[in-house]
Amino acid sequence: MSEALPPALIDTHCHLDAAEFDADRDAVVARSIAAGVTHIIVPAITADNIAAVQTTCDRYSLCRPAFGLHPMFAMRHQLDDLLRLRAAVQAARPVAIGEIGLDLFVTDVDVAQQIYYFSEQLKIAREFDLPVLLHTRHANDEIMKQLRRFDIRRGIAHAFNGSLQQAEAFIKQGFKLGFGGAFTYTRASNLRRLAAQLPLEAIVLETDAPDMAPAWAHQQRNSPEYLAQIASELAALRGVDLATIAQVTSANARMIFGDEL
Ligand code: ZN
Repeated sequence: MSEALPPALIDTHCHLDAAEFDADRDAVVARSIAAGVTHIIVPAITADNIAAVQTTCDRYSLCRPAFGLHPMFAMRHQLDDLLRLRAAVQAARPVAIGEIGLDLFVTDVDVAQQIYYFSEQLKIAREFDLPVLLHTRHANDEIMKQLRRFDIRRGIAHAFNGSLQQAEAFIKQGFKLGFGGAFTYTRASNLRRLAAQLPLEAIVLETDAPDMAPAWAHQQRNSPEYLAQIASELAALRGVDLATIAQVTSANARMIFGDEL
C-alpha cells in the first residue's frame, strides 16, 4: 500500500522569527515540512525586526519575507523607520509589504498615527508593486477606504473577522481572506459560517504562529506544523476533501505572492 502524500500547504502568515521559537525552530520547521507545509510567509512588525525576519528566511528555504510596520506599534515607529523600510524593500525585494494595517480594538495606540504609517506604507507597496499583508482588527471599513484611496488591488486580509459584506468588499478589491486557528473554535460561529460559505477561491490559510492557537492547542504556542490540521478542519466545514483545500488555497496564495512560490 502506498502512503498518501502530505498536502502541499502555504502558511501565508507566521512569525517564525519570534523568540517563542528560539529553542526549537529547526524542529518546528522539520515537523511543518513533514506535515505538508511548502512555504511560510514571515512578516516583520517593526523596522528593527526586519533583520530577524530576513535571517529566518535566509536559514529556511521554505520561508519568504514580508517587510512592514505593524499598527499596534505605531507609537514606537519613527519617521525614519519608513525610510529604513523602503531601503530594505529596495535591497531585499520581499514578497509583500506587511504586517501593516489598522487596529481599532486597542485603545492605547493613536488612530491618526496608525493611519499615517498605514497610508505611507501603502505608497511603498504601490511604488514597488507589492501585495500587502493586512492586520484589520475592528478596522475593515477604514482599511477599505485607504485601499481604495491608493488603488491597492492585491493582498491578504490576515485573520479576517468581519461581516459577509466586508468580506465581499475585500474580494472585489482583489484581496484574499486569511483563515487560521480562530475558526477552529466551535463558538466562533460567524467565522465558521464565513469559512464554510465564502468562495474557496477567496481563502488562504495561515497560522499567525506563535499567536492565535487553534482549539486543540488552546493557550499554548501556535505553530506552522498545525496548518494541515487547520486545512482539514476547513475541508470538514466545507464538505470537500483535504486535497481540494490544499490545491485551491495554495493557488490562491500564488495569485497574491507570485508563481515563484
Ligand atoms: Zn501577525
